[in-house]
Amino acid sequence: MKKLHVATGNPYDIIIDRNLLNSCGTYIKPLTKANRVMVISDSNVFPLYGESIKKSLENTGYQVFTYTFKAGEEQKRLSTINEMYNALADNGFTRKDLIVALGGGVTGDMAGFAAATYLRGIDFVQIPTSLLAQVDSSVGGKTGVDIPQGKNLVGAFWQPILVLIDPNTLSTLSDKLFADGMGEVIKYGCIKSRELFEKLERLNANSIIDDIIYDCVSIKRDVVQNDEREKGQRMLLNFGHTLAHAMEKEHNYSTLTHGEAVAIGMVMMTLASEQNNLTPTGTANRIARLCEKYSLPTADTTPIQKIVRSTSGDKKSAGNAISLIILKDIGCSQTYKIDKKDLLQFIAPKDKM
Ligand code: MG
Repeated sequence: MKKLHVATGNPYDIIIDRNLLNSCGTYIKPLTKANRVMVISDSNVFPLYGESIKKSLENTGYQVFTYTFKAGEEQKRLSTINEMYNALADNGFTRKDLIVALGGGVTGDMAGFAAATYLRGIDFVQIPTSLLAQVDSSVGGKTGVDIPQGKNLVGAFWQPILVLIDPNTLSTLSDKLFADGMGEVIKYGCIKSRELFEKLERLNANSIIDDIIYDCVSIKRDVVQNDEREKGQRMLLNFGHTLAHAMEKEHNYSTLTHGEAVAIGMVMMTLASEQNNLTPTGTANRIARLCEKYSLPTADTTPIQKIVRSTSGDKKSAGNAISLIILKDIGCSQTYKIDKKDLLQFIAPKDKM
């Protein structure tokens, strides 16, 4: 078992262990005085693990309710949250009760947002089952939903009281969803750890996945602890994301996974920072090779003008400026502020202009 402590305003632990799903109630019990627990999950994940989670919670003495929504990013919207509020209110959930988020990033983000807002905030536990959620979205307290204008534009910072990661759940993941998570894993290497990046180059991540999860979560823990509300350092976690969000939007959040879009975004941004002499030549190529190794795309057919136009609603923009995340080198990142009107010029390949 591996354990990490996150010293945010409301501190919490992250526990990584195989088979911990079956005993989740034991981990949760000391942390809450809840009578009722709402397990929120989607139609893919609940059939796999829902009953064993429910059984463990019931054996610990909780009255357990479940709310399951249809799997898919397109469900990540306010109408689904509204259904969650109904399930909570109809079953008499009070402020001391608990939500358990069981599933991938979409489930964690939405269950977390319901927890942040129902009765002005109740406790929740994250049990992430996808690689993306285990290495990234379940830690750090970002919750929210998409609106037609863009991804995650409505949400709240709301930390879980516990994160339980069982790497056994990765065995039921499709290759595409494993690659989805690897996009974020590679990002952690790029922004903060040359050692992790080189480990991913040298070895097969799948065979050392427990260590990889630990590496990523401890990087994220360090960053979030220092900057819970994304005023500075936390922005580095958005490397590749400004362009990724724009591409995901152009693909209607369907054909391109988040991790795939992040992979393309990291390569594009690094090609741009190389041609602006901010990053050593060859860095983008090295990132692209690593992405390819883990079955991730490195380019997109969406015209660059369209991508840039759709970054206008990006959360990392302030007034007329936008903060880009670029690499000084593999394992070392920085923010780089430019005027929004110069973004196209910064990103578009010089030889094609
Ligand atoms: Mg992300």
